[in-house]
Amino acid sequence: MTRTPFLPSRAAGLDRLARFQAHMGRTYARSRNHDYGRHDHSRVSQLSPWIRTRLITEQETVAAALARHSFSSAEKFVQEVCWRTYWKGWLQHRPSVWSSYIEARNAAFAEARADTRLSETYEAALNGRTGIAVFDAWMTELAETGYLHNHARMWASSIWIHTLRLPWALGADHFLHHLIDGDAASNTLSWRWVAGLHTEGKTYAARPANIETYAATRFRAELGPDWRRGLDRLVMPAAPIAGFPNPPASRLPEISASPAGPVGLLLCEEDLHPASLIPATSQVRAVAGVCFADARSPRGASGPAGEFSRGAVDSGLCAAAQLWAAPATRLDDTAPLGEALQAWARDHMLTDLVIAEPPVGWARTQLDPLRLELARIGLTLHYLRRDWDKQFWPHAQRGFFALKKKLPAILDRLELTG
Ligand SMILES: Cc1cc2nc3c(=O)[nH]c(=O)nc-3n(C[C@H](O)[C@H](O)[C@H](O)COP(=O)(O)OP(=O)(O)OC[C@H]3O[C@@H](n4cnc5c(N)ncnc54)[C@H](O)[C@@H]3O)c2cc1C
Repeated sequence: MTRTPFLPSRAAGLDRLARFQAHMGRTYARSRNHDYGRHDHSRVSQLSPWIRTRLITEQETVAAALARHSFSSAEKFVQEVCWRTYWKGWLQHRPSVWSSYIEARNAAFAEARADTRLSETYEAALNGRTGIAVFDAWMTELAETGYLHNHARMWASSIWIHTLRLPWALGADHFLHHLIDGDAASNTLSWRWVAGLHTEGKTYAARPANIETYAATRFRAELGPDWRRGLDRLVMPAAPIAGFPNPPASRLPEISASPAGPVGLLLCEEDLHPASLIPATSQVRAVAGVCFADARSPRGASGPAGEFSRGAVDSGLCAAAQLWAAPATRLDDTAPLGEALQAWARDHMLTDLVIAEPPVGWARTQLDPLRLELARIGLTLHYLRRDWDKQFWPHAQRGFFALKKKLPAILDRLELTG
């Protein structure tokens, strides 16, 4: 299958979706765990940058799978797409897990500045110079391409935490900085899961035999006969990291319906397909786009990650402006957002603004206080929740298994059947 680079447009996402559609059945279930390296990630879809920004939605991805395959053939692929929804829903019920990650990350950066051993190991990991050949290759691939195969993310994060004994929050930050699909829920909660914090006491240990089964072809070709160098250092079994217990699930905040009158539509990189959120007949008077890409990490977003996010916002903005024949404004990422939004609302005589509900993460951290600031001057920023999220999130309070059991019934309600 020919691969296109990650182009930040819905057209490019739909093109990749169509090309991968034939592979979403049993072929995916059989071969998805193999990491054949950056030149051959063809066993997986690499759709995550588009799904993460909702340039293409989970719903249409699952619809594409079930249009071509029966549910039983495409079940694995559908479940993987729903893992993203599960992580988001789980974090939505426990926003304090995001804030405790931010605290842990900031504390770990301070510790690394003060501790020479830690800062040297951290630098070696970032730059792929640890002497564990496969880990170093994954770190280089991550920095150069902004993407890693799921199994590689699992192995690399496990080695980071359990073998190099680096703080998990520094690893999560490093991934977020580089990943084009960088996502608050999927990233933070996957790192916590590997560390043994998500499922209490259960860690993920990278095992040489498992790496051999699923990645030896890649590494023999890339690194030669010495590719196993350092694998004897891998720590097994991996002991869970102490601290950061899961708080109980809180209720999801109530969400209002879209207002009936004229609205201003605000878009950010969390959800860029308003055409499937708001009826085409809505009175969208103006559209504005803002990108929070650099707020994901104290190091900002890497070149490829930032470019994708900004390009994705521009693409979503342009499509929405065309759909509603409304003027489009790209808000300056570096200026105070409250003032820019007020000026934009004034120019278009708006009192009601709408945005797809931002999931817990860095964009929401910016938008929640802004919403209060706008309310004080009579501007309402309405958060709109997708049917997909309404259906799935209530089942994302415990483990993934609980959600998986409900999957056929939910897909039925969403009129998605194989
Ligand atoms: C430590 C760690 C960090 C991660 N960080 C991120 C992140 O920041 N952003 C992100 O989008 N994903 C993250 N993931 C999840 C997963 O690795 C990627 O979504 C997946 O590799 C994307 O590649 P793909 O599109 O080819 O996946 P495919 O195998 O083709 O799967 C199809 C779609 O299903 C979803 N999906 C698949 N696996 C997962 C999963 N384990 N969790 C959540 N969704 C999944 C994605 O939307 C993906 O595009 C992380 C996983 C780990 C172990």
